[in-house]
Amino acid sequence: MNDFQQKIYQRLVRYVAVDTTSDPASTVTPTTDAQISFAHQLAAEMKKIGLADVEVDEYGFVTGLLAATTDKSAPTIGLFAHMDTVSDYNGHDIRPVLHENYKGGPIVISEQKNMVLNEQTAARLMKCVGDNIVTADGNTLLGSDDKLGIAIIMTLAEHLLSHPEIAHGPVKIAFTIDEETGTGIGYFDVKKFAADFAYTVDGANLGDIDCGNFNADSFVIHITGKSCHPGSAKGFMANPVRIAADIVTSWPDDKLPETTEGEEGFILFKDVTGGLEKAEVQGLVREHDLTKFAKFKQLLINLIEQKRAKYPAAKIEIEFKEQYRNMRDILRARPQAMELLEKALQENKIEYRLTQARGGTDGAQMTFKGLPTPNIFAGYENPHGPYEWCSLNWAEKALHVLQSIVQNAVK
Ligand SMILES: [Zn+2]
Repeated sequence: MNDFQQKIYQRLVRYVAVDTTSDPASTVTPTTDAQISFAHQLAAEMKKIGLADVEVDEYGFVTGLLAATTDKSAPTIGLFAHMDTVSDYNGHDIRPVLHENYKGGPIVISEQKNMVLNEQTAARLMKCVGDNIVTADGNTLLGSDDKLGIAIIMTLAEHLLSHPEIAHGPVKIAFTIDEETGTGIGYFDVKKFAADFAYTVDGANLGDIDCGNFNADSFVIHITGKSCHPGSAKGFMANPVRIAADIVTSWPDDKLPETTEGEEGFILFKDVTGGLEKAEVQGLVREHDLTKFAKFKQLLINLIEQKRAKYPAAKIEIEFKEQYRNMRDILRARPQAMELLEKALQENKIEYRLTQARGGTDGAQMTFKGLPTPNIFAGYENPHGPYEWCSLNWAEKALHVLQSIVQNAVK
């Protein structure tokens, strides 16, 4: 293992030892205190390696500055990774397992639980022969989403600080909270951060670049029924339970998360609650194209109107709430971030894919706040569960790509 990978690995091991699971049920920011203490741990390390202006703010965002080493003009570039891990699977007591110089074939994660990384569970791993692979031990997720991103950025910063002869402009670093709950980045002070553009290092496979994402709304359908004794209900009762079921099953089968992929949009019905008096259906609308997105919402509104006609005794209402929008158009209008990124990927001979994420990214929200922020790979796969693994070789490549960006940005 070379020096870069060694350092990235040592950091990953140190970072995943701290349980920073975020909590989607919490109403405070950050959602868990552990993120604050991890923030202070990272801040101490940032000061130790020589970063300037290191700060932890009231929410737990950690920021620091890698000062310019040249007087030439250069944009201020931001680098982001998130500190929290998802609550979908155990993130406590993570024990990373290193598989040095992977020989190919299956990797047994847990014999006892019959967990194996193979062609079915980790197709891309099969192509990583010779790489240094890290997995968990079957009891937890690995946490390389996104502690690998933090390790990459920290190792790059340390490298550049120990090589002042490498000319680069100012680089701002931020480690962020509550990415997995989607509730953190809204509290980040983009103005104060004052970067010209930025990158989140939170993508999966080698070469994956997210430069677009869904347009996203949530919705709630409120159904108020008309209840009475079932024995004398004929012609009178409007039953919210049945109406809710009717709405959900009337939505077209080919516009669901489980039947779509790539740039196809969907509606996810995620929660139904209620009884004979009233019911509530909650869901999400997702579509990459803004015009199609509006059509999707109209389709749901039309469906509600049909059900109003079918159940005149009931009251059925729908409300939408904006969640985030596709960053693609803004990245096209302010192309410097993507131009430098593509040049760096080519220089480092990385086959890359510009993808539209089937989800949101913190970068999408920051892009809309005025900081163009595409997402680059960190080098992990199967996040959010026990089959999560990462390649230290991929992570090292991410580091080199970021270094090329920072160097090439000097005019
Ligand atoms: Zn992540």
